[in-house]
Amino acid sequence: MAERVLVGAGVGAGVAIGTTFYLPAAAYRLARGGNMQDPGRIMFSAARAAIAEVASDLEAEALELDGDAQSIIFALAGILCDPELASVLKDFFAEGARPEQAIRGAFAQFSRKLTALGGYFAERAADLDDLAERVIRQLGGVLESVQLPEHPYILITENLSPLIASKIDPAVCRGVITAIGGATSHAAIMLKSARVPVVAGVYDATSIANGTRVVLDASSGQVFVNPDAHEIERYSLVAEANTSAIQIISEQALKPLPVQVMANLGSSTESASAVAAGAEGVGLLRTELLFLGSESAPSLQDQMFEYSKILSRFSGQKVVARLLDVDFDKPLPFMRNTGEGKYSGRGLTALLANPEVLEAQLRALWQAQGYYPRTELWIMAPMVTSAAQARAFLDFAAAVGLVGGVRPIKLGVMIEVPEVLVEGELTLILRMCDFVSIGTNDLTHYILQDYQPLANDAKPSKGELHSRRTLSLDVDSPYEALIYSQVRRVIEAAKLEGKPAGVCGEMASDARAATQFIKWGVDSLSVAPALIGQLRAALASSL
Ligand code: PEP
Ligand code: MG
Repeated sequence: MAERVLVGAGVGAGVAIGTTFYLPAAAYRLARGGNMQDPGRIMFSAARAAIAEVASDLEAEALELDGDAQSIIFALAGILCDPELASVLKDFFAEGARPEQAIRGAFAQFSRKLTALGGYFAERAADLDDLAERVIRQLGGVLESVQLPEHPYILITENLSPLIASKIDPAVCRGVITAIGGATSHAAIMLKSARVPVVAGVYDATSIANGTRVVLDASSGQVFVNPDAHEIERYSLVAEANTSAIQIISEQALKPLPVQVMANLGSSTESASAVAAGAEGVGLLRTELLFLGSESAPSLQDQMFEYSKILSRFSGQKVVARLLDVDFDKPLPFMRNTGEGKYSGRGLTALLANPEVLEAQLRALWQAQGYYPRTELWIMAPMVTSAAQARAFLDFAAAVGLVGGVRPIKLGVMIEVPEVLVEGELTLILRMCDFVSIGTNDLTHYILQDYQPLANDAKPSKGELHSRRTLSLDVDSPYEALIYSQVRRVIEAAKLEGKPAGVCGEMASDARAATQFIKWGVDSLSVAPALIGQLRAALASSL
């Protein structure tokens, strides 16, 4: 057992094993003296000159990069040239602020403005603190350069800025752990495109001492501090599998398959890697990230902006958006009602109990699709517990205007709780919905929970199922056979009713399980973008 297991938001799906290098928050200082302490016009022009220098340095840095990383650094340079920032700065100096106060104050005020605009702008705001410090260093003539090791290391830092991210060499930096920040920060996106696995927002990350051995698993968001030999061995195999899979993608992954291999996305920032990995559309768009960490629900506008970014990337393909699936352990303050029954507080049960949230999400998706009519939008409800509940969802969507009309949207449900496997229920659901998608993570968890003979400690938790590539029951175990037989029933019943059926839980990325699903007639498999290449390659050689 590892000494400790810390959890955060994983970015990408890679595994890294190595020793840590802790980068402390830089101790910035401003050289003082002479006119540096004088507020006013002279200082304002000096600060503007420093800002211009930093902006041009950033542009030079951007030219060395490409793709997302380049556009992010260019955008930061653009922010520095914003006349509104200069005008706020001028006010601070006019009021007699010292240089570092003026710069921090002006940047903070500008950052609040961006945050208030929300969405993409709010994400930019997080980078302004770092830019302010850089301008201060430039102005004070104290330019500390970040020194990163030249030997392999796993970086631990409080908050990773894009500026530091751009200095990271993927050839030596095996992974990054941050204490603050989320999976969608610019720095995380940059590292993801450089294939450096990241676990962000790990509480207590900075307590890990320099030089500590860790295993970082970005797909489950786990960090194992001082792992034992067994854990190292297990994760070394995963790390090797990732590398060898990348090597065979070019040969095998392009072969046509009798199934659509699609991407599971958690946000628009993953779209580019999904497209690059050859995703044939999005089979599961998890929308929870948009809703987490805020006192109020995201506005229709913010949601539409995020959905539009995704729909725009998959023109001519299908995007299956899953409505908010709030979990028991992460209650959202604006979901005031939980609904009734065994699944109260989750999935469709919670959404129907909070109709304003459901309506806003449906409208936002619908409006976003209006901008990208070439992308086929399918919407599905999570954790549907009965045919009657599925009916309530379809009626709700019809009342919002999503059924019929000039651009009808396909509406389906996830099959992920045992209650809907009952013969009559399943058939009714299949008849009323346009499609179904099997969520094997929850389905496995709840089937095993209901299955008394299995000892409690032998049942994998939902979290464990998420972090595994395969169902960790023995190949010949009767429990695995039980899950397989239920998945098979759903696929075959869907075929009988002429409705598309997909699998979007972790089992879809297990080539052995996926081969069975294909034999039974599954229409699509949806997996994390980083696993698409290796799944396609494995299926191409086994089918
Ligand atoms: C599942 O349960 O298999 C699924 C895909 O949904 P979740 O996001 O709950 O893992
Ligand atoms: Mg689920």
